[in-house]
Amino acid sequence: MVPSVSPPSRARLRLVSPEDAATTGSASGLKDRYSGIADRRLAAILAAEDVAEEYGLSAHVRTTCYVHRCWVHQCISDPLHVLVVTGHRWCRRCDRTVDVEIDETAPGSVELYCDGCGVPPDTVANREVVFSCRSSLVAMYGGEASTPYVVPDC
Ligand SMILES: [Zn+2]
Ligand SMILES: [Zn+2]
Repeated sequence: MVPSVSPPSRARLRLVSPEDAATTGSASGLKDRYSGIADRRLAAILAAEDVAEEYGLSAHVRTTCYVHRCWVHQCISDPLHVLVVTGHRWCRRCDRTVDVEIDETAPGSVELYCDGCGVPPDTVANREVVFSCRSSLVAMYGGEASTPYVVPDC
């Protein structure tokens, strides 16, 4: 018999509630910005990435989303993540939005496609989209094991 290791509960990783969304943007400061998030590990990584961004981490490679307060692969399909100016989720050949297909089933997969030209738009910006979503899936499945960041669970 091989001792089975139960996978981390995915239920507790779904965490953006309407109340959370309602408080987004309030000037309550960084400290309790993520206090309503049930998954304290996600909350800690969100806070850590906010700080890291101030010290130079590119917002485009974050594993968590400052606006939607979840793992970035969970909200990357939101229109807010289409950045025409930088080319993130944007196909310049077709001048249209690039769709992202996320399969959250472990270990997860990320695919980009453009309905216009039918090929994955391979640009630096879109590679960042794929990279951040892949990192986010890895971070989410990190569970209690090693995490990409050393953060206090406060
Ligand atoms: Zn988002
Ligand atoms: Zn295209």
